[in-house]
Amino acid sequence: MKILANDGMSAAGVKILEEAGAVVITQNVPQENLAEYINSEGVEVLTVRSATKVRKDLIDACPGLKVIGRAGVGMDNIDVAYARSIGRKVVNTPAASSISVAELVMCHMLNVARMVEDSNRQMPLEGETSFAALKKKYAKGKELQGKTLGVIGFGRIGQALARKAIGMGMKVVFHDPFITASVSLKMEFYDGQSVTFDIAPSTLDEVLSQADFISLHVPSQEKPLIDADAIAKMKDGVVIVNAARGGVVDELALLQGIDSGKVFGAGLDVFTGEPTPPVAVLMNEKISLSPHIGASTTDAQDKIGIEIAYNILEALK
Ligand code: NAD
Repeated sequence: MKILANDGMSAAGVKILEEAGAVVITQNVPQENLAEYINSEGVEVLTVRSATKVRKDLIDACPGLKVIGRAGVGMDNIDVAYARSIGRKVVNTPAASSISVAELVMCHMLNVARMVEDSNRQMPLEGETSFAALKKKYAKGKELQGKTLGVIGFGRIGQALARKAIGMGMKVVFHDPFITASVSLKMEFYDGQSVTFDIAPSTLDEVLSQADFISLHVPSQEKPLIDADAIAKMKDGVVIVNAARGGVVDELALLQGIDSGKVFGAGLDVFTGEPTPPVAVLMNEKISLSPHIGASTTDAQDKIGIEIAYNILEALK
């Protein structure tokens, strides 16, 4: 069986597939030559990340292609419904990156709590000449321990984040319209011990009004979940993090909330208008920024390779 990993695959994933008897080709074939290559080489499985597009015309042109794999979560670059409607299998790796995203959210929360996002910008410029002034400027940070984290969207990443936050000594409340019963969160430790927390769902208003830190982990939305009205319901000094999708938080309302002092600061990994986020957001000293790197760790890429390999083997059964 030949597998073309057109946007690459981690060594761990390649190893699993090779041990199962597959030939894995990791060279990148240009989009316009893909159909010809797949047909002439007898490729049965094509995996992509986000660069290669798998549209209806390619699927139709490659009748021998049995499985399409997306090494990652979003499948916007694949005509999934069409492929499935004609009997092709389509698999992705929804779980592999949850820990990396959750850790990036913790990183943004800690950054904002101690104003590291701004001191990192100012220290190279003024650290030598104005150390004492900067020390004073960044002296009013806060701790995470003992604070309440509100998680909106309690799926894979929301729950992974909750575990991290509980580990930091935070209380966790969550809102998710599709979860109506308590969620049992098992936390496993390095020495084999484990402890389970049962967390009951809250209404959106309860989360907005109770949380000191709020993090969004929902799919992309037609209109912002966090707008000026939602911010008005939050506690003074709230910290907001968006590592879900651009537009889930209304960035203009966020900037106004920061300017008024209602919002202490924010962490953003995703933006409206990616890849050209609004300059006012990028320039705001109270926003901790990263360029949509939630899933982009070597560990997550390894796990993605492993998960896609197993999902391909399962699909071929
Ligand atoms: P998931 O499907 O496991 O969880 C999403 C949860 O959101 C579900 O439980 C769903 O019921 C809930 N939900 C849907 N609509 C909601 C609403 N209006 N209010 C509250 N909850 C709602 O998904 P996941 O794997 O946890 O991913 C969550 C988000 O993170 C997705 O938008 C995904 O695209 C994004 N993501 C970002 C990165 C990154 O690089 N920053 C990486 C991976 C995923």
